[in-house]
Amino acid sequence: MVAKHYRVVTYSRNVFIPVTNMCRNHCGYCGFRRSPDDPQAYIIHPDRVNEILQRGARSGCTEALFTFGERPDEYAKYSKRLKAIGYDHTLDYLLDLCRMAIKTGLLPHCNPGVLSYEELILLKPLNASMGLMLETTAHLQAHDDSPGKVPQKRIESIANAGKLKIPFTTGLLVGIGETRGDRVESLEIIADLHRQYGHIQEVIIQNFTPKPGTSMAGHEPPSFEEMLWTVEQAREILPDDVAVQVPPNLISPGVLIQHGASDLGGISPETIDHINPEHEWPDVEELEQKVGRDTVLRERLPIYPQYILDGWVSAELRPIINELTDDEGYRINI
Ligand code: SF4
Repeated sequence: MVAKHYRVVTYSRNVFIPVTNMCRNHCGYCGFRRSPDDPQAYIIHPDRVNEILQRGARSGCTEALFTFGERPDEYAKYSKRLKAIGYDHTLDYLLDLCRMAIKTGLLPHCNPGVLSYEELILLKPLNASMGLMLETTAHLQAHDDSPGKVPQKRIESIANAGKLKIPFTTGLLVGIGETRGDRVESLEIIADLHRQYGHIQEVIIQNFTPKPGTSMAGHEPPSFEEMLWTVEQAREILPDDVAVQVPPNLISPGVLIQHGASDLGGISPETIDHINPEHEWPDVEELEQKVGRDTVLRERLPIYPQYILDGWVSAELRPIINELTDDEGYRINI
């Protein structure tokens, strides 16, 4: 009898915690960012973070995803608000939030934008993995007023994470004005970074979705064919041990999985996607329907199994990871 071959597609369960929506950049497609003068600008309070973490722990999440606007400390009004909750620098606040997550039994994954080598050294022991979207290597109009989106700065930050052996998530944002050639170049650079440092665990292929009130509100999102082409290129160009991730709340993953996508990222039973709030997460049962036949879903942690087995884990996080994983480095069945 011939054994049936099943494709394995992974996902993780997270709570999505937007630490602040103030940001020094002004990306043309961003509906998340707020200026410090905007009444909707916020810094999340530690009590609120604690409440989200507790809910996440109760509902079986493993990951605390901390997202940001980039380098908000450049605004005096932001710094004043941060001081009011007891901190001089965002990094110190973030380190405390990571400690709070670890105490709750969740694994931090921070995504605060471009970071220096020294900042990464401080965050490394408290993060199971970290992330920074490369988005593109092209210089685009969408990034004209975004100093943090200069491609070289982002490449340097991703390389620094590699030098420090931080398991890393990056990705492309598709349809923001870049060409197919730009996407190939971006993927080749990510592939080279991984060949050099071995730290890229996944590459997100994310479709741009227009947001009302932004300068790109009328810009066409990429077609499904364009996304399919990009997923195929990613699978072709990236080394085999780098997963290609597609976000299941933004695009139907079934066909993309047949063409090389193997991960669906973090889904949350407790929190919304604050960057794309109009797109709800599917739950695990819905995901099972979406992935199609001959595919099994397997839950992972925010750090991929190979990095757990190879010991890319700090002493601070080892007890949680040991408790949550099976012998292969995946989430134990709950
Ligand atoms: S996409 Fe990110 S970096 Fe760009 S403006 Fe929005 S929050 Fe800032």
